[in-house]
Amino acid sequence: MSASLPDILPDLGQRSNTVTVFAGPCSVESPAQFEEAAACVAGLGLSWIRGGAYKPRTNPHSFQGLGERALQIMRAEGSERHGLRTLTEAMDADLVDMVASYVDGLQVGARNFQNFSLLRKVGAVAAREDRLVMFKRGFAGTIEEWLAAAEYVRLEGCERIMLCERGIRTFETSTRFTLDISAVPVVHKQSAYPICVDVSHAAGQRDLVPALARAAVAAGADALMVEVHPDPARAKSDGAQQLTLPQFEHLIAELRAIAAALGKRIV
Ligand code: PEP
Ligand code: MN
Repeated sequence: MSASLPDILPDLGQRSNTVTVFAGPCSVESPAQFEEAAACVAGLGLSWIRGGAYKPRTNPHSFQGLGERALQIMRAEGSERHGLRTLTEAMDADLVDMVASYVDGLQVGARNFQNFSLLRKVGAVAAREDRLVMFKRGFAGTIEEWLAAAEYVRLEGCERIMLCERGIRTFETSTRFTLDISAVPVVHKQSAYPICVDVSHAAGQRDLVPALARAAVAAGADALMVEVHPDPARAKSDGAQQLTLPQFEHLIAELRAIAAALGKRIV
């Protein structure tokens, strides 16, 4: 960690003139994999990289993440080598302090959006350590429930909360989840929180990701989350939805044009 959050996120607040991109692999798999993604992200002038260390997998036989080893890789290859801020999911209240000692941002995943003891713990640690909290919407949660749950984090003294829309369950099966783009203006109308849109977990397929990302920026999202991987075919999780690095570079160029039309910058 090289700086405190007020220094590194001067305009994280909603309706700022920036769109912060949280790109990176679904899971941290090796130093080489993460470094290659970090080099791409940093080379594009972006400020944050994401990566999963503890993975909330539907099936316990699926890859569960490298745990603390992944956090060490994020710090070495993301923060120290490329000067990026790092974001990872904290799944277990007992591990929040340890996770926060490695990264700049703590994510609460969709499956934990009403895990109130975890929310309290993340809020308290983030307040104490001045970390960002990326709070995902549960895929069966209403916006009202999401905002109420965010109060558990905020009441611990945490001021750096960003909400993240990541798709909800509907009757539609052609995408992994249905991206609720309306959440962007609704959250802006009903709260002071900035909102990120995770287009990758909503889409589930990489060819749909660019259109959703363009829509999110156009709708006024304060941030975007995009999964990228140097070799998605070999990814240990979510291979179908991760963009290749050249695809991501192309997308960022498109998003810069859309952001410019809104008087915003992609960072
Ligand atoms: C993730 O971002 O790595 C993730 C698991 O997302 P979600 O909690 O939205 O499914
Ligand atoms: Mn994923």
